[in-house]
Amino acid sequence: VFSHVPRAPEIPIYAVMTACSKDPSPLKLNLGMGVYRTEDGKPLLLNVVRRAEEILVNDRTAVKEYLPITGLPEFNKLSSILIFGADSPAIKENRVTTVQCLSGTGSLRIGADFLAKHYHQDVVYIPEPTYSNHPNFFIAAGLTLRKYRYYNPQTQGLDFQCLLEDLGSAPSGATVLFHACAHNPTGVDPTLEQWEEIRRLIRCKGLFPFFDCAYQGFVSGNLEEDAHSVRMFVADGGECIVVQSFSKNMVLYGERVGALSIVCKNADVASRSESQLKLLIRPMYSSPPIHGAAIAVSIMKNREMYDEWTIELKAMRNRLMSTRQQLYEALLQRGTPGDWSHIIKHVGLFTYSGLSEEQVAFMTREYHIYMPANGRMNMAGLSLKTVPHLVDAIHAAVPM
Ligand code: PMP
Repeated sequence: VFSHVPRAPEIPIYAVMTACSKDPSPLKLNLGMGVYRTEDGKPLLLNVVRRAEEILVNDRTAVKEYLPITGLPEFNKLSSILIFGADSPAIKENRVTTVQCLSGTGSLRIGADFLAKHYHQDVVYIPEPTYSNHPNFFIAAGLTLRKYRYYNPQTQGLDFQCLLEDLGSAPSGATVLFHACAHNPTGVDPTLEQWEEIRRLIRCKGLFPFFDCAYQGFVSGNLEEDAHSVRMFVADGGECIVVQSFSKNMVLYGERVGALSIVCKNADVASRSESQLKLLIRPMYSSPPIHGAAIAVSIMKNREMYDEWTIELKAMRNRLMSTRQQLYEALLQRGTPGDWSHIIKHVGLFTYSGLSEEQVAFMTREYHIYMPANGRMNMAGLSLKTVPHLVDAIHAAVPM
């Protein structure tokens, strides 16, 4: 009965991963999918996560009952404190509902479905460019996608004027998706002053902000500081949606740990919104898994473990910074034509290299270096040892 089913096109970032895994060359370098790697190119498990798992394994009272539809209550409370701050008036006034979902992806999907069902305006603005999965959530929910200009290839920085122009002409009530920090794929974030200007425009025009926060801690090394954009939009008393992922900052990718928060006008609206979120979640997966959320709770509720987490997070961030610096200096030393300062200006996991699709294809073919066609490089895939190989490839790819 399914013989008519056509083969679906490969999802580009997975195609890059597959091609890389099939390449037998010892020189190959994987700068594709946005996952953290150690200086030795190995996947990382945080020591604090290992400790949390030991506590969980040794807890003889632990059982495997279903969680509530909205997840582990303590996880929801601690996640909302992590993003909104312990002294957030919105939390104190009980006008935030936070539900545990299947990592950032699941939270984005539930958030998009909630908008489609309960929000009056179906237009959603996403930055150009953005995380390749972003359009899918809103399209799947039946919403109308539009793009706002975000990145300027000439300056390799934020296209602030065009961003303001595009959002300034958005229809009233439109949802606007923002990356809370460490924009994927560009590594370009607005400054605090620019965020303030964006906030004023959003509130003045009655647009609705939807934050995706997948890299809290990766920009400054400080969880509080990286929540700044979101907190500005909550401090003004307005409403918003915020999606959190613990995939990157707790290195819990496969555990699928994340949360969706809706900041509402008052406690009653928040409570009614939560009741509706349950109706969206129930027919999809009924309730989320326990283990990953329990790890995050163990870490976030214990001061000493929380501190250990922040130290390990900062070490990841610092390694990314020093790799950026090494790559930048090596290109300068090599005399590779072009201004490579964006490598040290971009923040988070990625550098938007500016390399063209043809240059990327050349580097893959001749140097076994793998990255998506848009030239986004996962800085965590690089190390002191592999910088020279990447520099050779870029040098050969760029016209003299
Ligand atoms: N948002 C952004 C901006 C991302 O980069 C990612 C992961 N690449 C996600 C959401 C989703 O990640 P996860 O589902 O693992 O939390």
